[in-house]
Amino acid sequence: MLKLDKISKVYGKDELVVNALKEVSLEFEEGEFVSILGPSGCGKTTMLNIIGGLDKYSTGDLQIDGVSTKEFSERDWDEYRNHHIGFVFQNYYLIPHQNVLDNVELAMTLSGITAAERKARALKALEQVGLSSQVKKMPNQLSSGQCQRVAIARAIATNPSIILADEPTGALDGENSVQIMELLREVAGDKLIIMVTHNPELAYAYSTRIVKIRDGEIVGDERIDGNRTPVAATESAVLAEEAAEIAEITPPAAEEVLAAETAEVAVEAAPETPLETATNTSGKKAKKAKKRNSMSLGSSFKLSIKNLISKKGRTALTTVASSIGIICVALVLAINSGFNVYIQNFEKNSLSKYPIVVDSGESSFLDTFRKIADDGSFDNVESINMNDILGVLEDDTSSRKAYTDEELIFIKAVITALMENADKLFKTGDISNFKSYLEANLDYALASVKYDYNINPNIYMDVTIPGEAASYKCLNPMGDNLFGSITSVPGDMDAETLEQAKNIFSTIKVWDMMIDDYSIIRDEYDLLAGHLPGEGEDEKYTEVVLVLDKYNQLADTDLLGLGNLDFLDIVTAMLGGDNLENTSYDFSEMLGREFKLILNTDKYKLNAETNRYVDISADKTALNAVIAENAITLKISGIVREAEGGGGGSINGAIGYTQDLVTRIINNTNTSAMVTAQREQFGIYAAQIAADPECGATITNVSTGTEMTYSEYSNFISKLGVKDINKPTLINIYPKSIEAKNYVLNFIDSFNTTAYNNYKNDDAVLIDYSVDYTDNLSAMVSSLERMVGIITSILIAVTAIALVVSLLMIGILMYTSVQDRTKEIGILRSIGASKSDVVQIFNTETTVLGLIAGAAGVLIAFILKFPLNLIISKELNISGLIQPIWWQYILVIFGAVILTIISGLIPAFVAAKKNPVNALRTE
Ligand code: ADP
Ligand code: MG
Repeated sequence: MLKLDKISKVYGKDELVVNALKEVSLEFEEGEFVSILGPSGCGKTTMLNIIGGLDKYSTGDLQIDGVSTKEFSERDWDEYRNHHIGFVFQNYYLIPHQNVLDNVELAMTLSGITAAERKARALKALEQVGLSSQVKKMPNQLSSGQCQRVAIARAIATNPSIILADEPTGALDGENSVQIMELLREVAGDKLIIMVTHNPELAYAYSTRIVKIRDGEIVGDERIDGNRTPVAATESAVLAEEAAEIAEITPPAAEEVLAAETAEVAVEAAPETPLETATNTSGKKAKKAKKRNSMSLGSSFKLSIKNLISKKGRTALTTVASSIGIICVALVLAINSGFNVYIQNFEKNSLSKYPIVVDSGESSFLDTFRKIADDGSFDNVESINMNDILGVLEDDTSSRKAYTDEELIFIKAVITALMENADKLFKTGDISNFKSYLEANLDYALASVKYDYNINPNIYMDVTIPGEAASYKCLNPMGDNLFGSITSVPGDMDAETLEQAKNIFSTIKVWDMMIDDYSIIRDEYDLLAGHLPGEGEDEKYTEVVLVLDKYNQLADTDLLGLGNLDFLDIVTAMLGGDNLENTSYDFSEMLGREFKLILNTDKYKLNAETNRYVDISADKTALNAVIAENAITLKISGIVREAEGGGGGSINGAIGYTQDLVTRIINNTNTSAMVTAQREQFGIYAAQIAADPECGATITNVSTGTEMTYSEYSNFISKLGVKDINKPTLINIYPKSIEAKNYVLNFIDSFNTTAYNNYKNDDAVLIDYSVDYTDNLSAMVSSLERMVGIITSILIAVTAIALVVSLLMIGILMYTSVQDRTKEIGILRSIGASKSDVVQIFNTETTVLGLIAGAAGVLIAFILKFPLNLIISKELNISGLIQPIWWQYILVIFGAVILTIISGLIPAFVAAKKNPVNALRTE
């Protein structure tokens, strides 16, 4: 059955060489009970380990069932140990964190036996060793004799054909020793038992054969008896009696059970057992055919969890330490998604606050350059690309070497660059072309448009005292400047301070044109009372809306512009200690309120005698009469308030009026009698001026009768409010969604490319119709995104450090675990665990650790979310910045598992590499 053929074992090299075994040749047969006797250090353990496949012989051959083991692979040895060998050690080598039953089951978990079968067999084995009632106990709750019984149960549970026992009674007292020997004999059946012992008495009492070793050589080999009853009973009479009793009663019963089991296992395991297959076929073929038996994942999870539980403190500490990195990752991810949501909301809510503004170039810069153009050659300049000019001026690139040592000063050719790019910088564009293209081609479902003409409507309030002549108060005497009319200085305020106040407040707008597209208005504002202009019975242009903020407030400056308050009221209230904020108005006071609007030309009245238009703006009576007769009456038709989440912002004042009103003002002005008359005057010379602007022709002013140059004429006409309806000062485009914004930008770009190409390619087209636009929202969003990007990068860097620390923690834990469990690894290897089983055990342990740490990290991150969000919303006024998404948690836990496995790989391989013999020898 087993044949040792001139086996030698050499440890170490050079001077330290130990010849532990010297050409040992022995043969063992089924059913033998061999005792190996010899002094300490003679090579007994070495021989046993070689027989058990735990250690490798240096030379010679070990033949199993006639098959040489010279070509055995690691896997073959693992299978051999697992299926054919049962080890019993002097120090029992039970795994301390597994209970009795689990310890016995352990070897079977490696041989691919089902859980139920495993348990049944383990219980049977424990019953055989008389420990049925102790199966749930932990090894440290057992006596030493009981421990050895467990070890024997473990050895026989897999039903091996060979049991190897290395001084099984070495640590036991006499009585226990006898019992163990009885037990060994009892459970042996027809198994081969090879036992190393120090105790010749026991050896002679129970063995069928005694082999004596000295200094690595066989010095004696005697057979005692064919059957397993002691012939030379040196024991006491009691012992002999006991032995006889057991021999009579127990063994047959046990043998029956075992025989039945053996048959069963043989059927099951036959195709899988390498040795049986190997006997029939060549070694190589056999290797291919056999199925790998390895520890199931469930078993290694069980082992890992039991081990982690047995080291609760350390597991908890490591979990906390390693979860720090995971918490950081979870928080960073959550902050990142929170930022994205924040930016998206910001962008969505700001779409109407920051429309894409297309510029005609009617800026003060343009005016300056127009003057240049009047004298020089920039005749057709209509707009200037300031960004590009700044680009040229601030250009920091040069073909020269920076920080030169040359003591020379060079020239940077800025003007040349400007001139060379003149066609791009000074655009001869015309917004009217873009406007008509827009009107014809824009998809109004995606975006809507508001044309700005820079109109300052003249608004009056009826202050007529009943029974007296009509009287009106101007609400915006200097355009929309609220303080224009105030001349009397209240209290101690000096005139200069008043001027300053006027300037500051001149930027506040009370009347603003609103966007025509009510779908946008409705998104942004809630209608609190009345209706939007044109949705009632009156005409659209005669109606306006009153706009409140989210607190239902109107600024006192707005109320000045609406005529509800007087500047003096405010100052008086302030000086008198009254709080204006205690005053309120009913909706009904505002709804339906009327205003009067007149044109600039209404401030001139034709004198039939002189045929001149006389300026009557200073003549109160005349002006009141004109207002009563000609003014457009405007009425507040509705009250709106910025909507929750909608943000408001598209109406930049307390009163929103319609594009219809603006069109009407422009058309009425352009067709007024005075403008017509003035244009007629221009018409006389129009051809002449067109041919030569400097011809010296003058135009008569229809108001003063004085002669004007062409540019004086232009100024006067625009003072009267004449506008070209096709040339708005600004075109505001309001995309209705973030996606639609790209559509609008593409729309403008494609218009510009075509316009510019036409201009470049066709000599006949002198005008570049391309337009400039500003996309403030994108600029803002991208700077926000940049900021968020920077913050996220910093967070990620910090997180990376935390993660590395976490990984190190796990790595260290696993490494110490490897050190602590060296013995366990040895035991596992001795009962047939392969290297990869050991790797798997450690990997499952890191997986479990990773899962625990990941779950703990995610849980803590989830809990931290609440106080952190509270602090952030308090300090930064951003609510819900930490906004985790469910898949981030899964990702984090998954990532934690992957990373802990990686960090545990090195310790796992260190563990697997441990030589099982050395591992067992460590204490
Ligand atoms: P026994 O079990 O008979 O007491 P061993 O088989 O354990 O003896 O040891 C036989 C000899 O081999 C001893 O001299 C021992 O020191 C030596 N030996 C055993 N294992 C090793 C090893 N891993 N490295 C070096 N020498 C060893
Ligand atoms: Mg020994």
